[in-house]
Amino acid sequence: MRVVFLGAPGVGKGTQADRIAAQFKIVKISTGDVLREAVRNQTPLGREAKSFMDQGKLVPDSVVIGLVRDKLDEPGSANGFVLDGFPRTVPQAEELGKVLESKRVNLDRVVNFQVSREDIIKRLSGRRSCPKCQATFHLDFAPSKTGSACDRCGEVLVQRSDDRREAIEMRLKVYDEQTAPLIRYYSDQQLLTELDGSGAVATVFQNLSQVLEPYRTT
Ligand SMILES: [Zn+2]
Repeated sequence: MRVVFLGAPGVGKGTQADRIAAQFKIVKISTGDVLREAVRNQTPLGREAKSFMDQGKLVPDSVVIGLVRDKLDEPGSANGFVLDGFPRTVPQAEELGKVLESKRVNLDRVVNFQVSREDIIKRLSGRRSCPKCQATFHLDFAPSKTGSACDRCGEVLVQRSDDRREAIEMRLKVYDEQTAPLIRYYSDQQLLTELDGSGAVATVFQNLSQVLEPYRTT
């Protein structure tokens, strides 16, 4: 099974990708993880990526697609994969298409997770973290005992600057602008499934499993 998960920050697609990978015995490929792993292992592409990151620049598409290609070449990916957070743009999707073509395989499905803007803002803006021990909490879903202090070390919890409402709204705007053409691209290829991502994790997982069951390879 070869699938791509699309969705704005905060829709919960990473959590679902972990569960789907376990359920269908495929690998989860998240570009964030792949990037960190390559940098840690100091592979040629990892070193190249690091030189951009050290300058505070975005890692270019050519490097990211190279990392994804290396990952797809690993024996563990033979049974299939779920791509989480990649592609983000039409050019990336076209590059991914070329890589898959060279391996003589196709994508089975692209799932677009839909959660309302207000729900996303509620999910992300409620996050709090401990500046001392890095423990994370959520005002509504996982509050600390006192609400304001870390359960583990007692430090006063803080909100990351990119979890503030204005920053989230900006991230969502950028996401929409970038991915609207991508959604059309996969829709034109009849690969797209829209999925309601607003319910409980278990409910979303159940619906998602049903969508993907026809593509099961083991
Ligand atoms: Zn703490």
